[in-house]
Amino acid sequence: MALIQPHHGATLQLRLARDLVRSIKRGHPWIFAEALRQLPPAPPGAHALLLDNKKGREIARGFYDPHSPLAFRVCTTQPGEVLNERWAERSLTRALSLRGVLFDERTTGFRLFNGEGDGLPGLICDVYSDTAVIQLDGAGPSGFWHAQGIAEWVAQALSLRCVYERSRAGSSEGTTSARPLVGAMPATPVAFVENRVRFTVDVVHGQKTGFFLDQRDNRQKIRELAAGRRVLNVFGYTGGFSVYAGLGGASHVTTVDLAAPALEVARQHWELNQLPPAAHTLAAADAFQFLAEAAQQQKSWDLVIVDPPSFAASQAMVPKAIAAYQSLIGAAAAVTASDGLLAAASCSSHVGFAAFLGACEEGISFARRKATILYLGGQPADHPTPLALPEFRYLKFVLMRVE
Ligand code: SAH
Repeated sequence: MALIQPHHGATLQLRLARDLVRSIKRGHPWIFAEALRQLPPAPPGAHALLLDNKKGREIARGFYDPHSPLAFRVCTTQPGEVLNERWAERSLTRALSLRGVLFDERTTGFRLFNGEGDGLPGLICDVYSDTAVIQLDGAGPSGFWHAQGIAEWVAQALSLRCVYERSRAGSSEGTTSARPLVGAMPATPVAFVENRVRFTVDVVHGQKTGFFLDQRDNRQKIRELAAGRRVLNVFGYTGGFSVYAGLGGASHVTTVDLAAPALEVARQHWELNQLPPAAHTLAAADAFQFLAEAAQQQKSWDLVIVDPPSFAASQAMVPKAIAAYQSLIGAAAAVTASDGLLAAASCSSHVGFAAFLGACEEGISFARRKATILYLGGQPADHPTPLALPEFRYLKFVLMRVE
């Protein structure tokens, strides 16, 4: 079964309107519509050659979507390399072999394909033991990649029982639909391990592909530092950080999230790892309200984690997002014990590391506290990002000791 959609007729030629050759050769794989001289009509995902703005020399091959602001995605800058089945198979195999080096039976939940970071533009695939979830980032990638063929390839390569595709249903943010490509839809959540910690994932209804695999290394850091501490995990979702803290020897963990169903799963995860139920408190509440009330009641914790959803969906929302991070981190610092630890994460790709550190500094100062950085984290090695594509490094994790 084919890995990319069949390509008929002559390959489109797209001409750059600006001199972006150096940035493309350095590995920046995105060309926005305004940087192209013309936007000829073509089906989304059509193969295209990118020509420079001067002599019209070929500089890259990739695919095109005339309806998307991200009009062209680079698949290769290698002269003469053709986008065919052999190229696709080589690219998938390269991504697979990296994961073979990174993981063994201790971690069966990982990202197999991370789009541009694996040279596979717009193709995401997460594996949870015998199940995988494919996500194609929009109409261009859906028109270029052959989801069915990729599902069969992945199922064969990793001996999986089922592979589905999740796609954004309609236009409303966050809603997704799932369809099985290999096997049937599992009726129950799928069990997997991460650093030997046991979790389950609802691949059909969970957020993103069901679990936030990108926090794996940061969760490990929390486990290392949790011994004997009272821990507060805000925006806890299904309890990833909570369970690691419990296994790291935390004396008590409180998990806060707005979503009661996620908290119910957090409770199950805690028990699945044989942790004592009495050492875990769950609170279905708004994070900001919870923190404000806790501060009012002069409550404090020895380790506080805040991992909110993205606050900036676009560049225009960045100032508001920074302000929200500042007030969140200030509120979290207010309930962090003296010389306690505070971990703050941000997954907004529009907010860079420097800007987020700035927000931490403002927030901590707002709470009239001082902090020392103990550890800075980001995405783990199964979420590779092109060096030349900083927009792709969305995750920031700042672990501080707060005086
Ligand atoms: N830390 C988690 C991932 C967090 S995702 C992990 O490692 O798995 C963000 C979570 O924030 C979601 O579960 C969402 O339900 C929750 N959330 C969103 N807005 C919130 C709010 N205002 N108050 C509390 N929780 C909120």
